Amino acid sequence: MSRIGTVGIVGAGQMGGGIAHVSALAGYDVLVYDISSDRIEKGLATISGNLARQVSSGKLDEQVRKEALSRISGAQSMSDLAAADLVIEAATEDETVKRKIYAELCPQLNPAAILATNTSSISITRLAAQTDRPERFIGIHFMNPVPVMKLVELVRGIATDDQTFETAKAYVNALEKTITVSEDFPAFIVNRILLPMINEAIYTLYEGVGSVEAIDTAMRLGANHPMGPLQLADFIGLDTCLSIMQVLHDGLSDSKYRPCPLLVKYVEAGWLGRKAGRGFYDYRGEHPVPTR
Ligand code: NAD
Repeated sequence: MSRIGTVGIVGAGQMGGGIAHVSALAGYDVLVYDISSDRIEKGLATISGNLARQVSSGKLDEQVRKEALSRISGAQSMSDLAAADLVIEAATEDETVKRKIYAELCPQLNPAAILATNTSSISITRLAAQTDRPERFIGIHFMNPVPVMKLVELVRGIATDDQTFETAKAYVNALEKTITVSEDFPAFIVNRILLPMINEAIYTLYEGVGSVEAIDTAMRLGANHPMGPLQLADFIGLDTCLSIMQVLHDGLSDSKYRPCPLLVKYVEAGWLGRKAGRGFYDYRGEHPVPTR
């Protein structure tokens, strides 16, 4: 097992920010990179706000917050990630985007560094094959929101070596998360089960069986889910939901994974859920209002 001191993160969005947050709280130095300094600044501001919220709700000590925040910095360029022992790619769920990142990133990394992806669905083996280190490549799949959710799926590609697996395990254990190991099949375990349920909720809306509110209320109170499926879809991001359904559809060649045309329409409109201010609900006012 190798020792991890510095964690690099590519993608300062919802997930990258959350991974930076929990890594810094566990004592790791963290470097955050994104496509522009604006995105990095926005990501760092969100992390800072989330840590402050944990202090106000009594979950975190002020001194711990300060120390954690001081461990996180923005990477000016990808070459700064040479200092990292573990780099976690948490960029947009698009294989072309991820491939481009690895092509640029790998030559800059410490040759011994482990490269991980937080992909929700894409084959770890196929992504690993795009890098210069398939044996030191692994899926570390966090759940959203990272500071709250206890589970992390670990996914080995065909070439992932034991040392990489053990090092990733030790890192996730240090974050005090529970590990579940999944084989490398489309969408792994959680999303293989969760996303078809969300997609079916969108079909239920598309076919006029119920309104947004009716569907979410039905599943919250009728199935005891903490969030309705459409609310959850907005929370995950509708672009991410669509990508996962496409990976399931393409990877398993079964029509039961066909993405709902209404999901496609929302994504085409740029109504990507909470992060865009609008999805199945409109978040721009004081309270979320259903958009259908
Ligand atoms: P997001 O849209 O919030 O953030 C993605 C970030 O990646 C953006 O800040 C974007 O600027 C950045 N990015 C895009 N291209 C880049 C590049 N070339 N270099 C550097 N940064 C780049 O998305 P997210 O929800 O944080 O998802 C990120 C990853 O985590 C995806 O692979 C997704 O499947 C996975 N994931 C998402 C969830 C979820 O619930 N949203 C849960 C688990 C895993």
